[in-house]
Amino acid sequence: MSDFFVSHEKLKEIAEKYPTPFYLYDEKGIRENAKKVKRAFAWNPGYREYFAVKATPNPYILEIMKDEGFGTDCSSLTELMLSDAVGFHGEEIMFSSNETPDEDFLLAHKLGATINLDDFTHIEILNRLCGIPETISCRYNPGGVFQASNAIMDNPGDAKYGFTREQLFVGFRRLQQLGAKHFGIHAFLASNTTGNEYYPVLAKQLFQLAVELHRETGAHIAFVNLSGGVGVPYRPGQKPADILRIGREVRKVYEEVLVPEGMGDVKIFTEMGRFMMAPYGCLVARAIREKHIYKEYIGLDACAANLMRPAMYGAYHRITVSGKENLPCDHKYDIVGGLCENNDKFAIDRMLPKIEMGDLIVIHDAGAHGHSMGYNYNGKLRSAELLLKEDGSVKLIRRAETPADYFATLDYPGLPKR
Ligand SMILES: *Cc1c(COP(=O)(O)O)cnc(C)c1O
Repeated sequence: MSDFFVSHEKLKEIAEKYPTPFYLYDEKGIRENAKKVKRAFAWNPGYREYFAVKATPNPYILEIMKDEGFGTDCSSLTELMLSDAVGFHGEEIMFSSNETPDEDFLLAHKLGATINLDDFTHIEILNRLCGIPETISCRYNPGGVFQASNAIMDNPGDAKYGFTREQLFVGFRRLQQLGAKHFGIHAFLASNTTGNEYYPVLAKQLFQLAVELHRETGAHIAFVNLSGGVGVPYRPGQKPADILRIGREVRKVYEEVLVPEGMGDVKIFTEMGRFMMAPYGCLVARAIREKHIYKEYIGLDACAANLMRPAMYGAYHRITVSGKENLPCDHKYDIVGGLCENNDKFAIDRMLPKIEMGDLIVIHDAGAHGHSMGYNYNGKLRSAELLLKEDGSVKLIRRAETPADYFATLDYPGLPKR
């Protein structure tokens, strides 16, 4: 791809120093996109993006997000610990978890994070554990299907998350009794949405709900959290979401629904992960084996344990052969990893230039939910993460695992400790 953030020469140089496979992230792209997101919502004085840590839980990535003025969205104990270590404090942390263990609630409370309750029953649990803070948020699930322009975008009725509508009204009253003063409403109703409608349609529903909750309970609605779900164009030819336009459309419904109710102080929050990182990271692997049976296979030194999305969701990731971007795509390959699972295929029947052993294979748009979804099946080791900095230098931000890391939780003679 001509628009790829690193040239063939540079990538070759990086791969000489750092063995494949590795993830490579593009600081310049991350920052430019981050600035655009801020511009899109600059009309809302309280706006904040809480980067969804689970997308790319690396402290050096979180540092960039912090530097851009964002907070973090956490859903587990270790994500809270990461945020704390990077220096996110208090309301810079959103805690949007589910099936939340006591110790997670306790750490979130200790850090002063804004707690976004996933369920009605969590009100009493949190109250018993540490009391109800003055600012609290509740996650909403409207049930049914989520529709925009007659197309079904997702199926909240089947999703495990959130309060029902009735539970929200009862829940707000109970939280008020327990001392809550400022409320947030959160919903995540569709994932990886393409097009620009998702946030505006969701915002309208949540703004109307905010008005009703305010009217019926008198609660002060401090923020509406649109959460994640803004997609990226994984397939060639797909159009990227126009975040500036999305911001304008959300503003329109804000002025239509909230402002006339005297609720023009409601802050807009987002918790994007994919949109903030996916296009600005790739998995770089080497072609190490080829086989010619009923189909043509190219075997990589990376596998689904390094990037699970294709195996797990049948997700499409663009693939290029570094240095061969302008050659004709006249060979049909399955690009595979070495797991003993036949779904370990990064691409099926993909047309690519002729691949030689040793070629660097770039799997694009892997900057979110890539390394973070890695695992150790078949005893495969998780790869390094590298950051291509704005000045062109490369920083190792996570080393590759070694066998000793894999065996670290076993105490058994003959297995390496270091
Ligand atoms: C996963 C998740 C996000 C981020 O979603 P993206 O689709 O990556 O933007 C945000 N909030 C919550 C609660 C999530 O679970």
